[in-house]
Amino acid sequence: MGLEINQLHAGYGKIEALHGISLEVADGDYVAVVGANGAGKSTLLKAISGTVRSFSGAISFDGSELTRMPPHQVPVCRIAHVPEGRQIFPRLSVFDNLMLGAWLVKDESVREQRLRLVYDLFPRLKERATQFAGTLSGGEQQMVAVGRALMLGPKLIMLDEPSQGLAPKLVNEMYEQLKEVHRLGTSVLLVEQNTTSALKYSTRAYVMERGKIILSGLSEELRDQDEIRRAYLGI
Ligand code: ATP
Repeated sequence: MGLEINQLHAGYGKIEALHGISLEVADGDYVAVVGANGAGKSTLLKAISGTVRSFSGAISFDGSELTRMPPHQVPVCRIAHVPEGRQIFPRLSVFDNLMLGAWLVKDESVREQRLRLVYDLFPRLKERATQFAGTLSGGEQQMVAVGRALMLGPKLIMLDEPSQGLAPKLVNEMYEQLKEVHRLGTSVLLVEQNTTSALKYSTRAYVMERGKIILSGLSEELRDQDEIRRAYLGI
């Protein structure tokens, strides 16, 4: 089943920012949404999370309708959102930041098991567990944001520009870690301005422009077509 979006119109106040988006992330898929600044990528993730109002259209996940669901219910469906700019709590320890992601997990053994998984994926977070998260490097803070999302045990993880502000070497490291998250069974919906990385790691991709999807296909095929690269992807 997974995520199905059909003719979604959404926006801020009376201003529409998404003009009829249809998109699908099947179970186990790795989908990227690419497009320039202001295309509506962040708005799309926020509409799925319920923090931006949907005007019309449908968003369903594993059969549950999300458009009228209050934002705090969306994680109950096991959709995790890693927002733009990470939004971690700088004056809390790495451990406490991670535990905030497990607010829905009542069973302590499940929480411990997830924490072990996060520490296996990001050993640096284990080393720095007691440190204030605000004192970490940008790459490490991004790991905290992804780790916090994984503590929910998501079926779908949505990431908003995870490569933003990272040095090229760290961008690759981050994407290799996400590849492992995907390999372990989590579906991925990624929005990125960094088209090269997004198309390298995803299976399918959508290109957004001014609140609409103007192109979609297999990432490999989009990546390999010169005119598409030039006209739409800016590479
Ligand atoms: P970026 O990478 O810069 O975040 P984006 O593709 O994610 O770009 P959005 O942030 O989703 O784009 O913005 C889409 C449109 O919605 C833009 O026209 C933007 O000005 C508008 N918008 C975004 N946030 C708000 C807001 N809080 N209030 C009103 N309009 C907004």
